[in-house]
Amino acid sequence: MVFFCPICWKEIKGEDKKCPYCGADITEYDRKGFEEKLINALGHQERETVQRAVWILGRLRSIKAVEPLISLFEQNDNPFLKVEILNALGEIEIPEAMDFIIKELDSEISMVRRKAKELIERIEYERKRN
Ligand SMILES: [Zn+2]
Repeated sequence: MVFFCPICWKEIKGEDKKCPYCGADITEYDRKGFEEKLINALGHQERETVQRAVWILGRLRSIKAVEPLISLFEQNDNPFLKVEILNALGEIEIPEAMDFIIKELDSEISMVRRKAKELIERIEYERKRN
């Protein structure tokens, strides 16, 4: 599992007690709570915060985030954010996330269609290799 500093959001190791980048004390830091906070950040007003939360949830392979990510995708008209959400779902890679990506192969938005195709091809390729 990948962890992130709750202050500077850089990637850290699970056993780190202090963030090697910003020096934040992370002994008190509740990793479970962090995932919840990120999921809550999906409803944030600033688009940058939302995009960062989407990206980190993908890196965390947060299964709990799949449903909130899908509903954010459906409520949002921004094609860049939609592509970002597909990327995160492709990282999480549980069947529910994959079914959603497959459905988006028929999206009306060409950027979304292309990303869905790219993700499905990448995942199939990786599966064949393993
Ligand atoms: Zn930090």
